Amino acid sequence: MQDSALKNKTCLSGLSETELISLAEKMQWPSYKGKQLHSWIYKKWVSSFDEMTDFSTKDRNYLKENYYLSPLTLTQKQESKDKTIKYLWKLKNNNLVESVRMFLEEHESYSACISSQAGCAVGCPFCATGAIGFKSNLKANEIVDQILGIQRDTKERIQNIVFMGQGEPLLNYNEVVKAIHLIKDSVSIGARRITVSTSGIAPQIKKLADEKLQITLAVSLHAPDQKTREVLVPISKKYKMNELLESLHYYYEKTKRRITIEYVMLEDINDEPEQAKELADLIKTLHCHINLIPYNPTETSRELKRPPMNKVYKFKEIVEKRSGKKVTIRHERGVDIDAACGQLANSFKS
Ligand code: SF4
Repeated sequence: MQDSALKNKTCLSGLSETELISLAEKMQWPSYKGKQLHSWIYKKWVSSFDEMTDFSTKDRNYLKENYYLSPLTLTQKQESKDKTIKYLWKLKNNNLVESVRMFLEEHESYSACISSQAGCAVGCPFCATGAIGFKSNLKANEIVDQILGIQRDTKERIQNIVFMGQGEPLLNYNEVVKAIHLIKDSVSIGARRITVSTSGIAPQIKKLADEKLQITLAVSLHAPDQKTREVLVPISKKYKMNELLESLHYYYEKTKRRITIEYVMLEDINDEPEQAKELADLIKTLHCHINLIPYNPTETSRELKRPPMNKVYKFKEIVEKRSGKKVTIRHERGVDIDAACGQLANSFKS
């Protein structure tokens, strides 16, 4: 639908059940019609008002004249050999964001990796989104509708959500927290199946802890020392290692949820045995598990390389033995479709 056609219309995706009930009441409809709208949007994933068969033609026409269903327009879709699907969406402000659907064999379920911002201001040198720079914050309905859009397209239910697409979720705090409530209450995905991944915005980690949501927090640590971390995660110049670690301990104390430490492995930068020891010592007292991510080279950072796998295994062994923590190596998905964050939006632009 053209943007001009949506002018003066309200988007229904992103409204809670309570909001849809009061909307129905405002239209002098019985409140159960608000519940029906909620069910069509969040449980049956409809793409048009015509699919709402328990509404009369008159009611459907009224809805068409005054409302629209989705704030996103699907611009591109790529499917990989391993069944990973990557979506590129256009927002109302014409910025592009992406989401990825992955099949998790170990759980026999689908997971969606979603974006919280168009572009990102953090500027990690290994990340294609960092190269785009910050464009805009997503509204809660633009975040949630990525999940609904995937379900509309595949007709299959998503069971896990990771905020690991474009953007730093904790720099769009209010809309992300609003989206998490909608994902729990309307999309019906439990908090324990939602992961927020942050580059380490320490004050917002504490704020999130105080929300007492039972979500998982993943932190992109990427280096065991302040100096290397400042190169790999430039925002760490502002939120130093000590402050970050303190916020992580706080998060665990408040939520009792084990934290995931993400560590992208880059050859000759953060993959040495000494760094493995340093990492083990750093996180020893934190309730966490460590996820090593062998780097997936992108067009934006040709000088950065993935370490040989024997070095990755050695690193894993040292961290595991010295810290006593569980260490995993992330299995890559969708390599043939540029499924690392920011890569699809970047290739679409060029
Ligand atoms: S890795 Fe995450 S935080 Fe860093 S630039 Fe990319 S999207 Fe932003």
